[in-house]
Amino acid sequence: MTANRPQPRPGVLDIEAYVPGKSSAPGVEKVFKLSSNESPLGPSPKAIAAYQEAGKHLEDYPDGAASDLRDAIGRVYGLDPDRIVCGAGSDDLLNLLARAYLADGDEAIHTTHGFLVYPIATLGAGAKPVVAPETQYTADVDAILARVTPKTKLVFLANPNNPTGTYIPFDEVKRLQKGLPAHVLLVVDAAYAEYVRRNDYEAGIELVATCDNVVMTRTFSKIHGLAGLRLGWMYGPAHVVDAINRIRGPFNVNLPAIAAGVAAIEDSAHVQRSADHNAKWLPWLMEEIGKLGLKVTPSVANFVLIHFPQEKGRTATDANAFLMKRGLILRQVGGYKLPNALRMSVGSEEANRLTVKALAEFLGK
Ligand SMILES: *Cc1c(COP(=O)(O)O)cnc(C)c1O
Repeated sequence: MTANRPQPRPGVLDIEAYVPGKSSAPGVEKVFKLSSNESPLGPSPKAIAAYQEAGKHLEDYPDGAASDLRDAIGRVYGLDPDRIVCGAGSDDLLNLLARAYLADGDEAIHTTHGFLVYPIATLGAGAKPVVAPETQYTADVDAILARVTPKTKLVFLANPNNPTGTYIPFDEVKRLQKGLPAHVLLVVDAAYAEYVRRNDYEAGIELVATCDNVVMTRTFSKIHGLAGLRLGWMYGPAHVVDAINRIRGPFNVNLPAIAAGVAAIEDSAHVQRSADHNAKWLPWLMEEIGKLGLKVTPSVANFVLIHFPQEKGRTATDANAFLMKRGLILRQVGGYKLPNALRMSVGSEEANRLTVKALAEFLGK
C-alpha cells in the first residue's frame, strides 16, 4: 500500500528525540546549570579571542579539511593528522559512523545506561540498537560480547560513560576488541578522557594505533568548554577515516570553531586548570553527598550520579524540584533508565557548596 504522505525510513519514528539538560528554572534569577557537564571554568580566553577574530571573516567558507585543527590535535597528542576527522561535535561523528557502517537490519550494541546518542544514531541509520546489560552501572565486556551476532556491525562504548561516570580499564577495552569479529567496528567515545586520573585507563589512542577496527571520538564540549561551538574529532584507521571523509558534510566544522579549537587545544595550561578544578571537587562532591546518606556511583568524569530513595517526598523527582527552586539545575536521567537518580555536573565552588547544602536541607539534615 502506498502512503498518502511522505514516510521516514523504518526506525526513524522509533527514535525518542534527545532531551537536552535544562538551562533555566522558572522564577529563579540566578541559576547554576549543572545539567550538561559543561566546564565551570569556561573556554580558554585564547579560544574566545580566536573566535572573535574569526568572526570578522564570516563571508568565507571554512577549510573543509580543517587542516589547522587536525594539525594542532596531531601535535598535542602525537598523532598523524591524516588519521583525524573533525566534526560538528562528536555527535556528528557518531552519526556519521553509524551511517557509514550500518545498513538496514544491522545491529549496533550499546550498554544499558549508555549515551543516548547511540540508539538515536543506530535507528537513524535504519539499524537495530542492541542493549548489553551493565554490572554495577559499568560496561560489562562479557555481556557485550555475548550479544554479538552475524548482524553486529558496531559497538559503542563510552569510556568513561555518561551518565554513570564509570569506566573500564584499558585491559578490559583490549579484551573487548580481541573478542570482537574483525568486521565489527568498536567506537570508543572518550568525551571525558581528560578528567580521568587512573593509571589503568587509556582513552583509545593506543588501541586505534594497533587495530584495524577501533575508532576513538573526542570532544571540545567538555574540558575545553566549547559546547556551544559544536566541535569534536575522531582518530581512526586510514580506511575508516577515508569512509567518513566521503560522507561527511564538506564544511561540517565552521570557521570560528576551527579557530577556537586550535587555540583551545594549544592552551594546555587552561586544560590543566580545568582538570585540577575537577580533581579537587569531584571527590569532595562524592564524599559530601555520600555523607548525607545518598548513594553516589563512583565517578572518574566531571559529574556524579546521585541515587535517591523511592520514598514519597524523597525521590529524585522531588529532589529535582527542590533544587530547581533554588536555581540548582541538575539532570533527570529517566531516559537513561535511571528514574531514581539525578546527574550533577561538577560546578564552580559556589555551585558545588550550594548543591550539597540544598541536598542536606532536602533530606532534613
Ligand atoms: C557530552 C558527550 C559527548 C560530546 O558530544 P558533543 O557532540 O561533542 O558535544 C559525547 N559523548 C558522551 C558520552 C558525552 O557525554
